[in-house]
Amino acid sequence: MKNFINKLTLFTSTLILLLTGSIIPSASMDNPPEMTDSNSKKVVYLTFDDGPSENTTKILDILKENDVKATFFIISPYIPSHNDIVKRIYEEGHAIGNHTADHEFDKIYTSEEAFMKSFNKQQEFIKEMTGSECRIFRFPGGSKNTLVRNARGKDFTKNIIVKLESEGFHCYDWNVDSGDSHASSVPVGTICNNILKEIKDKDGNLKNPSIVLMHDCLTKKTTVQALPEIIKIFKDNGYEFDTLK
Ligand SMILES: [Zn+2]
Repeated sequence: MKNFINKLTLFTSTLILLLTGSIIPSASMDNPPEMTDSNSKKVVYLTFDDGPSENTTKILDILKENDVKATFFIISPYIPSHNDIVKRIYEEGHAIGNHTADHEFDKIYTSEEAFMKSFNKQQEFIKEMTGSECRIFRFPGGSKNTLVRNARGKDFTKNIIVKLESEGFHCYDWNVDSGDSHASSVPVGTICNNILKEIKDKDGNLKNPSIVLMHDCLTKKTTVQALPEIIKIFKDNGYEFDTLK
């Protein structure tokens, strides 16, 4: 299992490398990932960004009913009672990732120091809620966000990844976008069709692993409604569910 996770980390790093066209000095340079055998176990990582909110509790109920674990890249709750939702995520065996404390692009992407301030604040919050050290993170907007790239240059997120990975953190983007952030409310059918399209690579093969981007903030009610069907899509295609580490 550990070996597989290492491979996933290598896969992610290599994916970033390929997409950015830049060299990221990590273990991936010495150990390129093996090609995935089509008969090997397929793994999906469901990820939910920008929570917690009331929708998170509905998502947790659906995950429990389906005996599925997921990963939540959380920001600091605006409402203090939502701290209990963070505790519930952790207690029910899901993974929690750092998505910065406030997710405000105007603030966190002004300088590396500003980013790290929000990142560190969120590390402390997660430690306070769960009692354990969070080791995974996702940039608001993703590491290849064009807004950030255009404003700060292509090395901005890359430099932070190098720094944080050297400290034992793992950065995750996604390779299956549910598209639930493309409008304030995306219809359930559109979300499911996006997933069906995105789980296949350009050659029509199922992606392995699949890292699925969804959102559990308050406005994303249709994501909650689509979730049972999304889980069914991955089960029908022979995927096993796991959490990012
Ligand atoms: Zn986000």
